[in-house]
Amino acid sequence: MLLSMDGRFKEIVKKLVWQKQSIESEIQTIETSDPVLMQFPEEAAELGTAAWEADAHGTSVSVKNDLMLLSAKVSHALEKVGLGSYGMCEKCGKTIDPRRLEVLPIAVRCQTCTI
Ligand SMILES: [Zn+2]
Repeated sequence: MLLSMDGRFKEIVKKLVWQKQSIESEIQTIETSDPVLMQFPEEAAELGTAAWEADAHGTSVSVKNDLMLLSAKVSHALEKVGLGSYGMCEKCGKTIDPRRLEVLPIAVRCQTCTI
């Protein structure tokens, strides 16, 4: 694969790895700050009312879901790196414009197939 010989490609992969790490640490932060998911519920009870807890929990669950979804996309892209098929459109098989990958490293389809 030609793209893998490119320094540009290495930078994109670095971005993906970095993105995965930051998503994972964000998920961890959410898990440790969610009163419902916290290991010590008696401490959470001191933080506020049950309604506040439910609200905070609801928000963190939806944020966490978004992060999990993004994390899955990043993992999928990294998997493709491993398989050597990263940078190729999953729909038409053409090479995805590296400029597109630089902006959106998780892209698995070319611009034409995404629209
Ligand atoms: Zn395509």
